[in-house]
Amino acid sequence: MSDLTITNIGTIVSGNITAPITPGDTIVIRDGKIESVGGSPGPDGVEIDAGGATVIPGLCDNHVHPVIGDYTPRQHQIGFIESCLHGGVTTMMSAGEPHTPGRPKDPAGVKALAILASKSFTNLRPAGVKVHAGAVMLEPGLTESDFAEMAAEGVRLVAEIGISGIKDADEAAQMTRWAQAHGMRVMVHTGGASIPGSGVIGADFVITVQPDVAGHTNGGPTALPLSDVEMILDQTEAKVEVVHNGNVKAAGAVAALLAERDELHRLVVGTDSPAGSGVQPLGVLRTMSWVSSLGGIPAAIAVAAATGNVANLHGLDTGTITPGAEADLVIVDAPLGSQADDALGALSIGDTLAVAAVLIDGVVRVRKSRNTPPPVRSIGIPQ
Ligand SMILES: [Zn+2]
Repeated sequence: MSDLTITNIGTIVSGNITAPITPGDTIVIRDGKIESVGGSPGPDGVEIDAGGATVIPGLCDNHVHPVIGDYTPRQHQIGFIESCLHGGVTTMMSAGEPHTPGRPKDPAGVKALAILASKSFTNLRPAGVKVHAGAVMLEPGLTESDFAEMAAEGVRLVAEIGISGIKDADEAAQMTRWAQAHGMRVMVHTGGASIPGSGVIGADFVITVQPDVAGHTNGGPTALPLSDVEMILDQTEAKVEVVHNGNVKAAGAVAALLAERDELHRLVVGTDSPAGSGVQPLGVLRTMSWVSSLGGIPAAIAVAAATGNVANLHGLDTGTITPGAEADLVIVDAPLGSQADDALGALSIGDTLAVAAVLIDGVVRVRKSRNTPPPVRSIGIPQ
């Protein structure tokens, strides 16, 4: 892999919530990893001139529902993952594969599906996007040894609880303890029902289960009362998710609540797509702009909620612009015609960012987004 340097960067947004902006104008990449940030250009290799634009970490969508490959039967759409890459997404975390045609609902079947989806996306990255799939859908009859077996085969996620056969909070809590003991991250669906078959879940259920993430607290698509979000924050350690497929007003309210409590490190962003609401290639970009503009959150913090916070939750080496991290980067800018001067300004007034380039593991995957408006600045990327 060739070395690469990005120069002339206007703002480096780190993805790290405790220090969201890194001083300097240069990022040096070697062997697919970030070698240095802020300092002077490397001696050789390809040079990208950012033209004063902003660089953020590759976006990590904390909530997707993939199946196998780059196809979603839910909306009969091919290429949705590649389309999301053009919205700056370089990592996707599965919240379950419920849209798999004829999906099994017995213990052997859900285990097989989780292992298959996990291994399939490990072997195949659609358009280069790192899809972490194989989130087991909990069904009655699963035992602790099933979780041990799945963990040994690489399964790291439990699908949002509430959309599968386990509806009882105590049963869900027992399986959550087993999953967490084997290193899996567990999400609970919250709020109203999403599609027929899913349930209505409030704070009491989440508090009994004690998951790693309270999924789509702004609704998937119908939001919890904000008082329930407060109870979850008070009585669990869970991260709190805000998604594109939810209630827009509630997205701002949850973000503002976290800011007021000085707990923005618990905020994670996702899309919850593909779903009934469709496929949203710009869903993470738009949710960041809601969090910032409606929640009154500094734009660089909104970026961290969709990058470093998600990576931190899942123990990934992406999501931050720090030496040693995987070189998953997005060059962004204010969209042409924006009333703001730069990317962070655009987010804070509710605009959707312009994506000028996307890199995964130091390789340029997108030269100009086919889905966002064009950037104000001109960015020089050698062929
Ligand atoms: Zn859900």
